[in-house]
Amino acid sequence: MTDASELVRPLSGSDWWNVPASGDVPGFRVSDGPSGVRGQRFAGGPPSVSFPCGAALGATWDVELVARVGAALAEEARAKGAHVLLGPTVNLQRTPLGGRHFECFSEDPVLTAELAVAYVDGLQGAGVAACVKHLVANDQEHDRFEVSSEPDERTLREVSLLPFEHALRRAGAWSTMAAYNRLHGTHCSEHERLLTTILRDEWGWDGVVISDWFAVHATAEPALAGLDLEMPGPPLHWGAALAAAVDAGEVPAAAIRAKRARLARLGRRTGADRAQDGEEVAGGSAAAIAVAREAAAASFVLLRNEGLLPLPAEVRRVAVVGPNGDREVIQGGGSARVTPTDVATVADGLRERLGSGVTVDAGLTASRGTPAMQGADLRRADGTPGVDVEIVAADGEVRARLRPRDFRVVFLDDPGDDAASVGWSARVSATYRPRATGLHRFKAKTNGEAALRVDGAAVGDLIELTEGIPVQLELVTRLDDPRQRLAAELRCAPPEPVDAFERAVAAARDADAAVVVVGLDGDWETEGRDRETLDLPGRQVELITAVAAAQRRTVVVVLAGSPVDVSWARSVPAVLWGWLPGQEGGRAVADVLFGDAEPGGRLPCTLPTRLEDTPSFLDAEPGVFRYVEGVFTGHRWYDARGIEPAFPFGFGLGYTTWAIATPVAPAPIGAGGVAKVRVHVANTGDRPGRCVVQLYLGHPGAAAPRPRRELRAFEKVALDPGEARQLTFELTMRDLARWDRATGAWLADAGERLVWAGTSSRDLTEPATVVLTERWTSPPSGPLVGR
Ligand code: BGC
Repeated sequence: MTDASELVRPLSGSDWWNVPASGDVPGFRVSDGPSGVRGQRFAGGPPSVSFPCGAALGATWDVELVARVGAALAEEARAKGAHVLLGPTVNLQRTPLGGRHFECFSEDPVLTAELAVAYVDGLQGAGVAACVKHLVANDQEHDRFEVSSEPDERTLREVSLLPFEHALRRAGAWSTMAAYNRLHGTHCSEHERLLTTILRDEWGWDGVVISDWFAVHATAEPALAGLDLEMPGPPLHWGAALAAAVDAGEVPAAAIRAKRARLARLGRRTGADRAQDGEEVAGGSAAAIAVAREAAAASFVLLRNEGLLPLPAEVRRVAVVGPNGDREVIQGGGSARVTPTDVATVADGLRERLGSGVTVDAGLTASRGTPAMQGADLRRADGTPGVDVEIVAADGEVRARLRPRDFRVVFLDDPGDDAASVGWSARVSATYRPRATGLHRFKAKTNGEAALRVDGAAVGDLIELTEGIPVQLELVTRLDDPRQRLAAELRCAPPEPVDAFERAVAAARDADAAVVVVGLDGDWETEGRDRETLDLPGRQVELITAVAAAQRRTVVVVLAGSPVDVSWARSVPAVLWGWLPGQEGGRAVADVLFGDAEPGGRLPCTLPTRLEDTPSFLDAEPGVFRYVEGVFTGHRWYDARGIEPAFPFGFGLGYTTWAIATPVAPAPIGAGGVAKVRVHVANTGDRPGRCVVQLYLGHPGAAAPRPRRELRAFEKVALDPGEARQLTFELTMRDLARWDRATGAWLADAGERLVWAGTSSRDLTEPATVVLTERWTSPPSGPLVGR
């Protein structure tokens, strides 16, 4: 093939999610990711399972379970005809305020790396490509398209790149996504040292580098730097411009052929060369839904339990209070959102067990702006929860029908030539059953002209509605700007009774137990926007305190994908951290509260007492993230500075108790050896349970400053009461080594290391000593694991 325009054709998408075929390069489809497979519609396409968010999977510390989530995601991807899933997100939870903190597994590079490998193995083992994102140091949303991340080389290698190195080299991920941000001033999508020197030359990686959406800024630079695919399509900087650059000799045809070869390989690996353009259908097999429920329970972190949980069987009347008790707080905002096949709120989960014994009194709202309108309060024409959308062309013909769960629609399909999109409209309608009587304040957000109708009549923003009496809502938006895509959303603030707070406290007092469900939601935690404080929004802390004073059996459930203030925790008998738990979350909460499942999670991030204590707090220069904490990231920072967190990394109670013995170290090992460290763990309680045995490594007297303790390995073991097990952890040379700036290589100094085992970064055994008798060095291309 010599025609440049044909040569470059498969190097840019044809639309938002599809990549065209060309010659021996098969076309294929990608889909977001990472905690469900959304398909080609941002909202309203055939539904898919919403799995627990990345932070929740991080909290499972369970590689076997995360691999099963990966396999279930592959099945979901197939239902959407997708060959590549845009996940996992393996950036680090560097700041608790990060808008995508919820999407990431952990603050710790090693925990992130291990779970990334499991996710990729599960997904790709079932034939769907992972697209490991976002390469690299894309740990905050502030100024995300332009900001320059500037970790020093050692921090880059030991922290930011480590999860990518494991996912790409060890799990052999078939693609990765170049991040929006710059790395040391150069956009990641055109960073040659990153995309070629490190990925190809050092790591020998043969997968495809995909740009983040609209992250390509030039024609020749990214092509020469090592980017393979510009997304989304139609092409902006590649396509005809890249063909011209090839014809002008600015980009060698050989470079384009190499990209085509990598895309062809991706096609063979995913079977895109055999099956394409599958019709999108609903996901949600019973098996996938069961994995989502199991993973949610396995992610819940029991922070405190003064003998209250599991709730005794005599608890029949439960008051659910708090803003998140009966709201669909299941996932974060942005590209990770999916339309779920079903949703159980915490109240739903409890109702399925206790029926009419459950009362719901939110007590307050804590939304960011006007609250979203959610599926459970809305009904489509066919009676199912959600909304009907018709996309109508200028000629009046209905071009698409969508079925979102929430009252929102984003319609990306290219309506044809630009002129044709003018005059297109979206008609979004649902029956709404108000939960309160009084003036409801509606807020329509659209990018065109909008009109809201209630029961057929045009109305203003303030509408008087009656509790339980359904009304028909219709929002019509008409697009007049050919450069835009149709988008419409309707939000509504129902009236809050003046005594809502007191009613919730009274309901809690009158019940056998109170479950206070607090936290954030997908408006607070969203791609594109960081939070500003750790505060629990609104009067949530006041509500917790008042309910705990009124009801001795008070459990606080926190639904949030990132840390919030927990200064109140010691004033209540039980606290369960439930993350953004996916569609089965409410059922899993009920499973755990009543002891059918144990809360299996351990914190994948530190819960700080103050924002000022967090590692990146002083990193506030406009336009740059300097990574001032260096390799002292996450829990390593708190250890180095002697800061007491509210709850430490790795912490979580279960329903049983554990004894872990001081590790047994091997005889001294030489360069290239493997240190086999043995740890004895016993279940000393009276229930079966799972213990996450964590192994930390310290380097006293190291030549370069090193964290007091680095997490190096972990294993989640299931043991019956009285049962014990001997675990063996294998520490390789890379586990002992640091990045050596002077030589640009990995280096393990000869000498002593300390190894601790424990149930958190702060609850540890006495250390054992591992001795390395000689120095070991390895170039960046050297072995990652093994000898
Ligand atoms: C996000 C990616 C996502 C892509 C496609 C971008 O804005 O950063 O994570 O995969 O959009 O939706």
